[in-house]
Amino acid sequence: MTHDDLPPLEVDLYSDTVSRPTLAMRQAMMAAEVGNEQAGEDPTVNLLCEKVAALLGHEDAVYLPSGTMCNEIAYRVHCEPGDEIILDETSHALHYETGGPAALSGVMTRTMAGDRGRFSAEQVRGATRGQSRHAPISRLVSVENTANLGGGAIWPLDQIQSVTAVAKELGLKSHLDGARLLNAVVASGVSAADYASGFDSAWIDLSKGLGCPVGGVLAGSRAFIDRAWRFKHQFGGAMRQAGIIAAAGVYALDHHVERLAEDHANARRFATAIGQINGIKLDVSTIDTNMVYFDVSGTGLAAPEIGTRLRRQGVRIGDTNDNLMRAVTHIDITEVDIDRAVAALKDAVSG
Ligand SMILES: *Cc1c(COP(=O)(O)O)cnc(C)c1O
Repeated sequence: MTHDDLPPLEVDLYSDTVSRPTLAMRQAMMAAEVGNEQAGEDPTVNLLCEKVAALLGHEDAVYLPSGTMCNEIAYRVHCEPGDEIILDETSHALHYETGGPAALSGVMTRTMAGDRGRFSAEQVRGATRGQSRHAPISRLVSVENTANLGGGAIWPLDQIQSVTAVAKELGLKSHLDGARLLNAVVASGVSAADYASGFDSAWIDLSKGLGCPVGGVLAGSRAFIDRAWRFKHQFGGAMRQAGIIAAAGVYALDHHVERLAEDHANARRFATAIGQINGIKLDVSTIDTNMVYFDVSGTGLAAPEIGTRLRRQGVRIGDTNDNLMRAVTHIDITEVDIDRAVAALKDAVSG
């Protein structure tokens, strides 16, 4: 079968980044007031930044083209070349940002083995170096909530608070990669500000569960954001009439946050159903938000082969390696789609 023979892709569980902006979101974008963003003259961008700063309990915020740039600019602001960032061994910044911390900030990374991406204050203490002429300087601890490779795992609030407290005690800066923070907020009932305000910097992605076409917003103190602007220009992230895309973010914060609960219910529905399939292994109790990682080694088929069989049925689920697949729910996925994906998976592993 050539690529051209594939049926239309109807249920796409590859990632929550595949969702398309809704009609209402596109209308909000069309109606946006705009100006020169890099001069601070775009009213829609300014509104979005005010909203996210307030949401995360920080003084100020800056709009950026991607979540990756939010991490990379924050690292650049907090660190000098030769400094060390302490983070979980599964971190997005470590695996999926093309070595950005090294390339753009000249930093070392020191990893910890957390529990599904979540580490303890004691681990941070253990990873922090003492004063020495010879050692890198421990500068920053970076937290991911929800933890992506941890399967969308939510950090308990007290665990986050103990990590930011020990960071302060040890003289480290702290950064929150909140690409999917609002998933954690909706699923746990903890407010975004309670999660984010204790960090020196924090951001949310607009192009994941919130369903926007592009963008992330990075928040921090006024001084931090001033410095972040310098690197936004340097890294090529300063824009012009960006209100067109920022309007999607404003719209999403007003309309797409509470609905993340549907994505979480759909992920649990999917996990519960596929847990019954012979050869598929997962622990439904670990499905905290919108991601379902599952082990297919018991099926006798490699994950990429299952992916190909699913795709022939109009369903896409990604493979992480030969044994592991990942399904992610989002705004374009309904209960009916979930049931279809479950049926397709049953078929793929039995036929
Ligand atoms: C997606 C993601 C990023 C990067 O965001 P982009 O908008 O894709 O650049 C960073 N951290 C985590 C945890 C992510 O899931």
